[in-house]
Amino acid sequence: TMRDNGRLKIAIQKSGRLADMSLKLLEKCGISLAKSRDQLLCMADNFPLDVFLVRDDDIPAFLATNVCQLGILGQNALLEQQANENGKYAELKEVMALGYGKCRLSIAVPNDFDYKDITSLSGKTIATSYRGLLAKYLAEKNVSADIVTMQGAVEVAPRTHLADVICDLVSTGNTLKSNGLRETDIVMQSQAVVIKNEIKDVEINSICEKLIARLRAVLRAENSRYIMLNSPIDSLDAIKAVLPGSQSPTVMPLQGRDDMVAVHAVCEEGVFWNTMEALKAKGANSILVVPIEKMLD
Ligand code: ATP
Ligand code: MG
Repeated sequence: TMRDNGRLKIAIQKSGRLADMSLKLLEKCGISLAKSRDQLLCMADNFPLDVFLVRDDDIPAFLATNVCQLGILGQNALLEQQANENGKYAELKEVMALGYGKCRLSIAVPNDFDYKDITSLSGKTIATSYRGLLAKYLAEKNVSADIVTMQGAVEVAPRTHLADVICDLVSTGNTLKSNGLRETDIVMQSQAVVIKNEIKDVEINSICEKLIARLRAVLRAENSRYIMLNSPIDSLDAIKAVLPGSQSPTVMPLQGRDDMVAVHAVCEEGVFWNTMEALKAKGANSILVVPIEKMLD
């Protein structure tokens, strides 16, 4: 059957906010997929991986039923389903955060709503697609309110008098602003994550570990820079101290100079203009910062 053809299966969003980045991430892991976006199933031809393109809401179920072993979705979506489904998805574990799809689940009130603190919501009606997470948050704050579940267009609920306030995903806040709403409480922060079900098959598990190692390597490389500069020998220690998140830089002689050396380092934290300016202030010159395509320990 399709279930045990010796290949790892991953479920990702078919279309929507996470779709492109998720596919691109797999490509960055060196996985080449036949570009048939209309199909449910895409098979990699150079790695034992099958990619299921599905609605994000269905991803936990694909894992829980063992159709797939891995998935990529928003933390918000996973935690919401775990809050609602009575332990059905308890086995699903977050393996790693991916740094994209960043947003927050927030409560927002109409601009003319008299909001002091969370207790201002008691007895009010709140529209949301995230009943589970909202109910948990309100319970923690000891506030009792009515929750109306909506699938979409939550931000219009107050204007149509379906609800007094809303609880919805926010990234820039522009949607809230253009609907006359203002954010009052952050229920949770979210981003895209890789989730995993328990894998019993030893071979599939080792394919999974290989893919996860590649994913980690891709994220590490993306956040890292290779930095090269020339440093006065006397300021070497001061310059090393400024290099962000680098282990032990390579120090090499410069032909014909006995006062200067070349320093090369992998920096695993952001290298910004102010970092470069700080290096220059310590006497460094010819500073080059280049991206890293791949890295593996
Ligand atoms: P599907 O058709 O797969 O069910 P959807 O409409 O439910 O898609 P999208 O709107 O594509 O889902 O959002 C997917 C995820 O993107 C969200 O669950 C969330 O984690 C993340 N996200 C990031 N920013 C936002 C935002 N401003 N609004 C909504 N979701 C966001
Ligand atoms: Mg959805």
